[in-house]
Amino acid sequence: MPEIPHDPKLAAATDIIFDCPFCGKNLAIDLRGASLMVICPDCGRNVQVPEPAPGDPAEEGPAAPITVSAEALASAHTKIERLVSTLEEIRDRRRYLEHLRTENMARFEQIGGEVEVIQNSLDRIVSLLQEAVAEKMSGSAPPQES
Ligand SMILES: [Zn+2]
Repeated sequence: MPEIPHDPKLAAATDIIFDCPFCGKNLAIDLRGASLMVICPDCGRNVQVPEPAPGDPAEEGPAAPITVSAEALASAHTKIERLVSTLEEIRDRRRYLEHLRTENMARFEQIGGEVEVIQNSLDRIVSLLQEAVAEKMSGSAPPQES
C-alpha cells in the first residue's frame, strides 16, 4: 500500500519535497517514503519518490551551529595550562629575585659597616702618624740621617 503524498505547505522538517515528473505538482512525503512508488494525487500516475538530497536541511540542520570542535577546545585548554604554568614560573622567579635583593641589601649594610670600621682605623693610623711626625720634628734629632 503506497503512501499518499501531501501538500508541501503541511510538510514536516523531515519530509522529502519533490515535484511530480508528469504534472509538475509540488509534493511532500514522509522520509520513510524515499524511493517508493507513490500515486500523484493530482494526475494519478505512479511516481517514484527521490532519495533525500545530501544537502537536505533536515540532515544538516542540527549539526551546523556546532563550530568549535573538541580538538580546538582541547588545544585551547592546553594553551591555557601552558600559560598558567609560565605564570607560575615567573612568580617563582620574582620571589627568588626578591629574596636575592633582600639578601644583598643585608650584605651591603654589613659591608657598609665594615668599611666604616676600616675608615675609622685608617683615620686613627693617620692621626697617630701625624702625631709621631710632629713629635720627631720637634725633637733634637735631625729628620735626615743617610
Ligand atoms: Zn502528477
